Amino acid sequence: MRLSGYRGALSFVTFLSCYVISNGVVTHPRSDPRVLNLNVGFLLKEGAGYTRTFPFDEPGDLRVHDITIHHLQGKLRLNRTPQGIVVQGTLHAQRTVECVRCLAPVDIPFDIPFEELFLLPTDPESSNPDNHYYVIDEGGTIDLTPILWEEAIVSVPIQVLCRSDCLGLCPDCGKNRNEEACECAFEIVDSRMESLRALLDDQS
Ligand SMILES: [Zn+2]
Ligand SMILES: [Zn+2]
Repeated sequence: MRLSGYRGALSFVTFLSCYVISNGVVTHPRSDPRVLNLNVGFLLKEGAGYTRTFPFDEPGDLRVHDITIHHLQGKLRLNRTPQGIVVQGTLHAQRTVECVRCLAPVDIPFDIPFEELFLLPTDPESSNPDNHYYVIDEGGTIDLTPILWEEAIVSVPIQVLCRSDCLGLCPDCGKNRNEEACECAFEIVDSRMESLRALLDDQS
C-alpha cells in the first residue's frame, strides 16, 4: 500500500490519462520496459530477507505513459518478504515543460520516493479488486511506470516560468522578447490608458 494517500486519489486520473481511445480501440501508450520493468524472478527464488540493489543511470529520454522524463538516476533496494517484494529508495529525474510566457523548454528536477510492497501473483489479495497493492506479474517482473508517472505529474508545477522576469512572447508579432526587442512592443497600449487619453483629448 502506498504510504502517501494522494496516490490513491490519482488512480482514476491515471486511468483516464494513460489510455488512449482511438477508433473505439483502447490502447496503452508504450513505456520503456527496458528500464521501468524490473525482472525480480531471481529474488522470488530466494528466502525472505534477501536484498538486492538496482542502480539506475539513464541520461536519455524515457517514455512514461504519455509523458517523457530524462536523467533518471538513483538506487532502489528490493527486499524479499513473505508477501512479495518491498521496494525502497528514491530515484531522481527531470521533466521538460514549457514556460507559460515564452514557451521555452524548462527542465524541472523531481524525486520519486519508493516505499512499496509488490505482492506475489499467488497471494490471494492480488486478485482482490479492492486490493491497494501493486502485484508482481506472472512473468516475475514489477512495473515502476505508474509510480514514476504519478510522481512526475504531482511534483512538477503546472505554471512554470523559465525565469522570474521572463518577458514572454509579443502578443502582436510573436517574437520572444527575451531574445529580441520587436518594434511593435512599444505600441502595445493599455486599454485603460487609452480611455483616459480620449477623455483628456475631449477636454483640450
Ligand atoms: Zn519564459
Ligand atoms: Zn512584436
